[in-house]
Amino acid sequence: ARLYGVRDWGSDYFDVSEEGNAVVSVQFGEKTIQVPIIDIVNGMRERGLDMPAVLRIENLLDHRITQLNEAFARAIEEAGYKNHYRGVFPIKVNQQCHVIEEIADYGSRYHHGLEAGSKAELIIALSQLRDQDSLIVCNGYKDEEFIELGLYARQMGIKCFFVLETAMELDIILERSRALGIDPLIGVRIRLASMVEGHWNEDSGDRSIFGLSTSALLGVVDKLKQANMLHCLQLLHSHLGSQIPNIRNIRTGVMEACRFYAGLIEEGAPMGYIDMGGGLAVDYEGARSNSTHSMNYGLDEYCYNIVEALQESLDPLDIPHPVIISESGRALVAYSSMLLFNVLEVREHKAEPIPTEPPEDSHDHIINLFSVLDYVSPENLQECYNDSLYYRDEMRELFHHGQATIRERALAENLALAILEKISNLLPQARRISQELEALPELMSDIYYGNFSLFQSLPDIWAIDQLFPIMPIHRLNEAPVRDAVLADMTCDCDGKIDNFISPTGVKKTLPLHELKQGEEYYLSVFLVGAYQETLGDLHNLFGDTNVVSVHINEEGGFDFRREFHGDSIADVLSYVEYDPKHMLEQFRRIAEEAVRDGRISVPMRQQMLHAFKESMHGYTFFER
Ligand code: PLP
Repeated sequence: ARLYGVRDWGSDYFDVSEEGNAVVSVQFGEKTIQVPIIDIVNGMRERGLDMPAVLRIENLLDHRITQLNEAFARAIEEAGYKNHYRGVFPIKVNQQCHVIEEIADYGSRYHHGLEAGSKAELIIALSQLRDQDSLIVCNGYKDEEFIELGLYARQMGIKCFFVLETAMELDIILERSRALGIDPLIGVRIRLASMVEGHWNEDSGDRSIFGLSTSALLGVVDKLKQANMLHCLQLLHSHLGSQIPNIRNIRTGVMEACRFYAGLIEEGAPMGYIDMGGGLAVDYEGARSNSTHSMNYGLDEYCYNIVEALQESLDPLDIPHPVIISESGRALVAYSSMLLFNVLEVREHKAEPIPTEPPEDSHDHIINLFSVLDYVSPENLQECYNDSLYYRDEMRELFHHGQATIRERALAENLALAILEKISNLLPQARRISQELEALPELMSDIYYGNFSLFQSLPDIWAIDQLFPIMPIHRLNEAPVRDAVLADMTCDCDGKIDNFISPTGVKKTLPLHELKQGEEYYLSVFLVGAYQETLGDLHNLFGDTNVVSVHINEEGGFDFRREFHGDSIADVLSYVEYDPKHMLEQFRRIAEEAVRDGRISVPMRQQMLHAFKESMHGYTFFER
């Protein structure tokens, strides 16, 4: 557990059992139930759900919603804040139907609503809302159809806000609401000058592509006044960026938003709601620090800071406390999903056995490499490193010019590798090491080939260098003796993972176990519930993975609540406009020609057509 830092990033949801298995921990009152993930994987295999697969633990989703709502309720009560909190889950963070259904179900006791950024998401929100006290917040560009849908919702009594991203949208809202005779609920998204740290800092500041500038905001107010509809302006929205690592930025942002809120009240708008957007971070690294993949605050601190900053800013102006809205996405769903995959193969970067003596008539460079191998010690690591590369490259040069054989080249490369291995093992004993030598363990690391597609299942690793905790889910009481990087199944050099979370910071390699003959080795990428599924793509036509949703029960068991089989080959082919039936017909024609030419027999033709059809219905990933 210590090696992978699970107690740092696991947030009490994940741990390692005495038997060496990664476990999910769920609290039932005072009782903690721990379920080994490998047991769930075995259950999945029995049900024909192969790797790779996304495993969702419903209890964790429920727990996160509860924690967020109760943390706000505590902060509100303790501070004597005179209004309540209403969360809205941004659908874009995980649009999967069963995730939204679960959020709507678990969230209904807190009136947790939904945030929609497009017509499709509004349709989801309208079909999933469980009660009239929950809110729907509509962000993003809105056309007539979008606005009409929202207005109908309004007429049915749903608190559906249109948040203006640009001044242009207002004309359509005014025109449609007049035409339908329905008063809209309007919010304004402002562009805060307060900048945040972390990856998403461009969501705030003057150059943010979202939100109204101060003068555009006043234009909206004036237009609403002219239209006699200022009473519809009730919400102020700001979003500083996702994954905000520093609590001070959040507090400063709330204070600035409050100045706008007060300004709008001064202008005569009724207001009543303040929406602080997303930004509540997830501590992927478990470092509790102000850095991109971490955060220097906890959930309670987040809520207290927002509540206190609101009070501090609004009380001196005698402004009634607004309803607090947050659009927390990743903090709600990241923990509940993990990506599980098996390792298919390992390419060890390890020297083959070396003869005890140089073969007779060996070239001088080979004899020198033998001497360097004997000579390596903690005092001369750099010298031996330089020599090994020099003699190896000289041998390669001779090979290029036809003056060395393929066997001589292989021996020189193997000797150089053995020397580098020795150097790498002696590095901890050296007094000082150069940058070159520091990078050696990574160069010497193995490649573990995993049965997954980075582009389909972990796109943020590729796109924005996101870090997720990764560890084996079993054999954790055995010392992992190999250091490795991970490669996926796509034939793309970007399809690899070579940055890993460790208790001592980010490392270039991951400690892993040697594969055992005839036994699967499973790894899990944790905290992948936010953004990964729909951002993923079909690179190399690897499709959606299998998905399983499990509920852990008080008796210590688990129920398979939902299971979804991933894309078949026919599915992914049809996404790129192929017609599987037509493809079979084309293949049949080629096979028939081969029969006619006498290259295959009719039974062989049948066997090939059967294999073609079977493949069409198979999983896009590696099947054992
Ligand atoms: N609200 C808006 C407007 C967003 O753009 C985002 C994402 O960037 C979110 C909410 C969700 O943010 P997070 O996942 O950080 O909670």
